[in-house]
Amino acid sequence: MLLNRCKGCGAPKVVKIFGRWNPDGTITAKAYNDVLRVAFVEYGEINGLIDGISTRIGYPIHRIVAEGERKANRSSTDELLSAGGGLLRLLGRSFIGAPFTIRITRDIAMGLGHGKPELIEHRRGKMIRMRMREPYSVPLAAGDLWGTYEAHFIMTASATWEEEGDSATITVEKQQSGMVWEDPTRLALKKMPTMPGDVAYERCPRCGVPVQVTAAMSWDTDRGVISNRVTGRREVLVIVETVNAVIRELTWELGEDIPKMVCEIEQDYVSGVLGGELPKPSAWEYSALLAGIGLFGQGNPIDVTREAGLLTVRIDNPFCEPLLAGKVAGYYQALEGVRAEVSWTPSTAGFTIIQAWPA
Ligand SMILES: [Zn+2]
Repeated sequence: MLLNRCKGCGAPKVVKIFGRWNPDGTITAKAYNDVLRVAFVEYGEINGLIDGISTRIGYPIHRIVAEGERKANRSSTDELLSAGGGLLRLLGRSFIGAPFTIRITRDIAMGLGHGKPELIEHRRGKMIRMRMREPYSVPLAAGDLWGTYEAHFIMTASATWEEEGDSATITVEKQQSGMVWEDPTRLALKKMPTMPGDVAYERCPRCGVPVQVTAAMSWDTDRGVISNRVTGRREVLVIVETVNAVIRELTWELGEDIPKMVCEIEQDYVSGVLGGELPKPSAWEYSALLAGIGLFGQGNPIDVTREAGLLTVRIDNPFCEPLLAGKVAGYYQALEGVRAEVSWTPSTAGFTIIQAWPA
């Protein structure tokens, strides 16, 4: 039902139910009472980051990524189930494990482009085993199921997963009742300050989703895969606060170099995928490249200057500063044809200033 298409624009209904496109460059998660944000990121970006950090530090970080995702999901799901609002009211604690809630959860995951979940085995409140076909990321999908299941049944569980071709089997098993929070201050999802904005979208008259979104993205609702029609690459909708929580978790576990590493890997990814005939660098061209990020829920670029080789960009409501800095540096590298250095300011007041210059 949630994957049925809007007759106006063709977007699956779950997109409208899940997301709200705001004039400030954010997409908020209606399904989560609008307290959390969502954003489109590329499948290649997510997996490139996990593999890239693993390579740089010399061992796989998948377990830490899954742990970070688990904690963030457990935290947000617990908070929202306790508040009892939004779409999650339907998925309230007493209903979890009922066939229709499993169906809703499956449809949401597929609408977000997370792949296709199939329930293999479920012993209510004790153990769940799911197969995820074409998962958007194996450790993130494992962390999603792990944390959500713990919050629904107020328990602490263990998780294991196995990859097989293009699918993964994830098993979550109860260890003890009650959620054990190792360090509660570490788990809190940061509420993000927001600046007002005036980004206008032409919206589908039936469902209200911006027509630019359905023009840019195509949903394969049988597979749970979203493709960008312009780039041809796979896209995924992720919870913004969760992305930042995972980066914080990696920073705590692996050191202060992580945000810089995230930025550099993103920089190389973005400059690598920008192919073909590139325009001559100018403030106007950089503005044009950044103009679409609000549609993807990544923030609102409000000022771009380029003087004597120094590119300065202000982005209000940035979804993730190191990823956006990496994107700006990647554009710089591609257009200027030189390796870029980049800096960014933390978005404590709701905006970041990113600067790029020749290395
Ligand atoms: Zn529509």
